[in-house]
Amino acid sequence: MHWTPPRGRACAVRVAWLLNARKAKLDDSVKVKCTRCSSTFRDRAGRLRDGYSRECPNCNVLIFFDSESSDASVRKALTEARRVRNLLSS
Ligand SMILES: [Zn+2]
Repeated sequence: MHWTPPRGRACAVRVAWLLNARKAKLDDSVKVKCTRCSSTFRDRAGRLRDGYSRECPNCNVLIFFDSESSDASVRKALTEARRVRNLLSS
């Protein structure tokens, strides 16, 4: 009467594993706010360090990541990247 499919439990474990894998993948990226168009995108924490530069995918402006930048969002992204790198290495 109260028969449950034997595969139900295995399926739930698999879903949990997929969610964890997805979370781990997200944890390694940092949100960056473009200095020109204010759109946000994500970049790998391993690449985001002092002296790094990349183009905004929205307006193609080149953003320079400098810890002494006058732009608060650039400094914030660098701080966040450092935090994520510390978390991943520990
Ligand atoms: Zn932009």
